[in-house]
Amino acid sequence: MGRLESITIPGSGSASNEDCARVCLRGDEGEAVVLDGVTGRGPDASGCRHGVAWFVDRVGDALLASLGRRCDASGDAVMRDIVRTALSAARRTHERTCDLSNALTPQATAALAAWTARTLTLGVLCDCYAVVRYVDGHIEVFEDAALRVLEQRHPPQRMEAFRNTDDGFHTLAADPSVAKWLRTWEIPASGVESLLMVSDGAARFVFEYGLGHWHDLMRLVEESGVAALARRVREFENEKMAGPGKNAETRKPSDDLTAVLLQFDA
Ligand SMILES: [Zn+2]
Repeated sequence: MGRLESITIPGSGSASNEDCARVCLRGDEGEAVVLDGVTGRGPDASGCRHGVAWFVDRVGDALLASLGRRCDASGDAVMRDIVRTALSAARRTHERTCDLSNALTPQATAALAAWTARTLTLGVLCDCYAVVRYVDGHIEVFEDAALRVLEQRHPPQRMEAFRNTDDGFHTLAADPSVAKWLRTWEIPASGVESLLMVSDGAARFVFEYGLGHWHDLMRLVEESGVAALARRVREFENEKMAGPGKNAETRKPSDDLTAVLLQFDA
């Protein structure tokens, strides 16, 4: 591994950071997880006494462990099985104390990666993203566009009705069968120069704030590091907050923000 950088920071006014980043390196193998907890409604409404940050930590640990056991076996079915196993493990940690049938049970969106000397396998669910820089210089964005397509077709107040439904968008929650909705890709590792995984708090650089395209974001983290991306996003948010009434156009003044950058040896 040539370079590993990671940052995860809470949004403004967040009681706790509900994103998480996990990376494990073993020689030329490894795995990485970025999760973005969906802002919860408190224990009475969600049926969970633990909260979103706790849930995200449990799922992050379970995913990393599950990926580590299987990273030699890439493929769509394996990646989905890993998610199913991890969600089952997270479920067992609180199924006796919490009502996991509650629709508002803690949940998260995800970007997953596992690599060997031969293959990089990616998995994405909802609005976390993975970006690959290939050795020939071009980049490719790996995303689950289900939520963004729905947001373009329906008003914001209708979106909740689509959560974890067959014709809607999907998040990691209490039901392990959601794993079937994970989007997955397999890439020959020899063609990959770097991999970036981000939560939507960082993807606002592209989508909500228009600070640049994905290739601008990728160049920023490669040249100046993931902390520079976080600074740029927060600077923009602070400028918006300072302007009269300007922050009304964003959903939250700022969101938890996570970015993991891996650069592979040539
Ligand atoms: Zn719980």
